[in-house]
Amino acid sequence: MDSHRKLKILIVDDSLLNLRIIAAAIERNGYETVLASRVDQVFQYISKETPDLILLDVIMPQMNGYEVCKLLKNDNKTKDIPIIFITTQAGISDIAKGFEVGAVDYINKPFHELELISRVKNHLQLKELHDQLRKSNEELQKTNTELIKANETIQYNKIQQEFFTNLSHELKTPLNLIFSTVQLMESNMKNKLILSNEQAKRYGKSLKQNSYRMLRLVNNLIDITKMDSGYFQLNLQNYNIVSIVEDITLSVANYIENHHINLIFDTTVEEKIIAVDADAIERIMLNLLSNAVKFTKQGNLIIIKIYDLGESIAISVKDTGIGIPRDKLRVIFDRFRQVDKTLTRNHEGSGIGLSIVKALVEMHNGEITVKSEYGTGSEFIIKLPVRVLEKEDHEIQTDHYSDKDSYIASISVEFSDIYSIS
Ligand code: ADP
Repeated sequence: MDSHRKLKILIVDDSLLNLRIIAAAIERNGYETVLASRVDQVFQYISKETPDLILLDVIMPQMNGYEVCKLLKNDNKTKDIPIIFITTQAGISDIAKGFEVGAVDYINKPFHELELISRVKNHLQLKELHDQLRKSNEELQKTNTELIKANETIQYNKIQQEFFTNLSHELKTPLNLIFSTVQLMESNMKNKLILSNEQAKRYGKSLKQNSYRMLRLVNNLIDITKMDSGYFQLNLQNYNIVSIVEDITLSVANYIENHHINLIFDTTVEEKIIAVDADAIERIMLNLLSNAVKFTKQGNLIIIKIYDLGESIAISVKDTGIGIPRDKLRVIFDRFRQVDKTLTRNHEGSGIGLSIVKALVEMHNGEITVKSEYGTGSEFIIKLPVRVLEKEDHEIQTDHYSDKDSYIASISVEFSDIYSIS
């Protein structure tokens, strides 16, 4: 409140004599007054200016003081102005009614000047304190929002920092392994040692698997960059989604079963033609399947199920693996996020896979959700809308992996975190 400004009191009373008496007392004590003998004058004035306090008569011809008070309290602009009733009929129920409609006090007519001024002064002071408190509260809230933002930036920087540390580990580990295998081969050659078939196979395997691992990471990084710059385009064609998913599952069945994990494929529908990008679906499925293997112990189970939901097709990838803690469920689709560093270190991974899966599903106008119980297992469910490309040149594609070699290579790439490639 501006300390040099004279505080303004609006006095409302239908008796001009009363108005004058009250105004004289108020002005004598250093306040400015505005007088209203009719209710319409009150609202006219209020629409332009805001008084610091209102002294309000109860009985008036147009509208009684309680009604006026109610209207003022319901308006955001005027709800905080303290209102004191000036009344001749201050029975208990009148006083209670006054407080109920939002008044801060009441004064009986005829009034004593000293009492009137003390009450006015008190409520003006209270109002000032209230305003100060609200202001500090607003400032506190602003600071709080800024702090939350700063904290989010710190968190994001921390995640990025972790990602780069992780990324360099991810890139260096396979590279070091490739390097040391080559060094070993060189030293064997130098010493004219002849490699046994078994040794040569082992070296070749290591070189291949680690190259695939690097390729996977590089592919993921390139795709993320493409997605961020809006450069990633889907090649939509009409396919039988059931056979795509079934073929992908079958193609990794050996890998999975060699790992002593049981794999079940089940579907409630034999054929459903929808427009998808077959490579993207392959990428999504291989990613989810490789995660299912990574986080599932030997002897456990992975179930792939397809449900026809009419408007959409649901594909579920369920495992009986380690599961995901409830508080981590919402972050696993975020880029660079891994649930447990120590745990994921036993397997490899950079925390990009699921963020790419989510982006690819959403590019199909679909959605991905996860249900998981820590220690029991996880289920990832993808829902893809059932829509087809209508044009003639969009006939149904039957062969979604015309280039078999590159298909096998993608499996090897996506599973490179887990498997020795044979
Ligand atoms: P990563 O390359 O680390 O596997 P993802 O983005 O594919 O990255 O997965 C992110 C994290 O989500 C994983 O590190 C793991 O902690 C958790 N996660 C994903 N799938 C599963 C699953 N089937 N079971 C348990 N945890 C999982």
